[in-house]
Amino acid sequence: MILWHLGATVLIVRYVFRDPDMDLRWVLLGSIMPDLIDKPIGSVLFHDTFGTHRLFAHSIVFPITAFAVVLLVTRRGTSRRRGLIGLVIGVFVHLLLDAAWATPEAFWWPFFGWKFPTVFESDFLSLLGRMLSDPIVWLGEAAGAAYLAMLWRRYLSVTGDLRRFWQEDGRIDLPADSQSSVE
Ligand SMILES: [Zn+2]
Repeated sequence: MILWHLGATVLIVRYVFRDPDMDLRWVLLGSIMPDLIDKPIGSVLFHDTFGTHRLFAHSIVFPITAFAVVLLVTRRGTSRRRGLIGLVIGVFVHLLLDAAWATPEAFWWPFFGWKFPTVFESDFLSLLGRMLSDPIVWLGEAAGAAYLAMLWRRYLSVTGDLRRFWQEDGRIDLPADSQSSVE
């Protein structure tokens, strides 16, 4: 699911962090990054080898390592560090939404061994078939799309807003009364 991850992650991040300066472009990228890495490797290119679409990028080691690297290679207070921390947060929320801990051997990889547990019907065509036929997937995608559309209408629909968001700062205002509600 793509729109589900994008929308639900932004909603959770806005609710939890309430940071009007967070660069949501990086959060959006992080929210789908584990799938962007693992699915092409595990479902398409090397399905015969791994037999699963959940590999390293769906283990908790991935965002923790990424976070450590970000702290090492970026300077405090820079927009690059802020952005990359947003990316790592997006990855954490992806694992949360995937309930990644439900497959402990993958989530805690490599602590249970180096091999990833195979997942039945995790090849590209099976995943695609499920995406197109499962009503739960459609509901999730619709919910994600609806939330993103609401954000756009409410905060980015004035001429120039969308360009500013994508090309400059990735900011979306928080609701004025952010104590009691998110949107
Ligand atoms: Zn995933």
